[in-house]
Amino acid sequence: MKACFHSIQYVFLDRDGVINRKPPEGAYISHWSGFHFLPGAESAIATLNRSGRRVIVVSNQRGIALGYYTAADVQALHARLQEHLGAHGAKIDAFYYCPHDKEQCDCRKPGPGLFRQAFRDFPEASPASSLMIGDSLSDIEAASRLGIHSILIHGDPETRKPGADEAATLADAVSGSLFQAVEECLS
Ligand SMILES: [Mg+2]
Ligand SMILES: [Zn+2]
Repeated sequence: MKACFHSIQYVFLDRDGVINRKPPEGAYISHWSGFHFLPGAESAIATLNRSGRRVIVVSNQRGIALGYYTAADVQALHARLQEHLGAHGAKIDAFYYCPHDKEQCDCRKPGPGLFRQAFRDFPEASPASSLMIGDSLSDIEAASRLGIHSILIHGDPETRKPGADEAATLADAVSGSLFQAVEECLS
């Protein structure tokens, strides 16, 4: 376990591939019916909540720009997600998502915009007290550029994304799941 994680008060989570099962490359999750929790995700979030840390979701939702679903669909899905977590004694403190296509904004990860929004809303937060848990190079790169600690979720080799090896090198730690990352590094 890394000693630096003791000082973490803000845990940023990517959504797809960390909280829920990632859709196949090029596919998007638009509705609650397509949202399937990864094992132990709810209890990992509850553990983070109980430890007094803030849990913040930062998610690229390019499917909005592509017209596959709307911002309202994302918000409705997040409301259902929050409701489901509530039944497990867990909650997300804030959601941020990028609705844009590639190279049109500074908020699509690895851009810093979603984190900057969070730092505005949580003024006591800082990169040094923050940790990003993600399954993509873009998650780890975003964190690295901002000086935020990071854990890469290295899931199933079959659905592993391009750039996973580079991400593993860049991250402070690698874990098999959100559940495992919280058990090993944050409990
Ligand atoms: Mg992901
Ligand atoms: Zn954006």
